[in-house]
Amino acid sequence: MAEYDNNNIFAKILRGELPAQKVYEDEHTLAFLDIMPRAPGHTLIIPKKPARNLLDIDPESLAHVIKTAKKIAIAGKKAFNADGITMQQFNETAGGQVVFHLHVHVIPRHKDVPMKPAASAMEKPEVLAEHAKLLKAALG
Ligand code: 5GP
Repeated sequence: MAEYDNNNIFAKILRGELPAQKVYEDEHTLAFLDIMPRAPGHTLIIPKKPARNLLDIDPESLAHVIKTAKKIAIAGKKAFNADGITMQQFNETAGGQVVFHLHVHVIPRHKDVPMKPAASAMEKPEVLAEHAKLLKAALG
């Protein structure tokens, strides 16, 4: 497996070198909106400690990510009046991973509404800003 690359997009977001619509942050994790959401409220949760994916992350760091994913799932269901939540996590190119800093996708879902294909359309910044606001309000 390749080494962790400090110049991946999410490492840059963590260092504040690239912007993101952040919805939640604590000592161990950061949650921000996906710029190409598969449904409104699509959020990515990442560990602050560098990890390429599930294959190299330390279990404690992974536990922090899952705890934050649960918080975001509950907030996403409330904020978007969702009927369900899809959680996804991809590992290595063959597993569907595109950005090589571990991340969990949390996607609010509505009955009979299919997800958009991955990376299909960039959302408008003002829409993402509004969705981040809704999620932050639901997080309390
Ligand atoms: P994966 O690696 O799990 O296949 O997908 C990476 C995800 O990151 C995709 O859903 C894609 O839309 C999202 N993404 C790619 N580049 C950026 C970016 O610069 N900012 C944000 N917020 N999301 C991104």
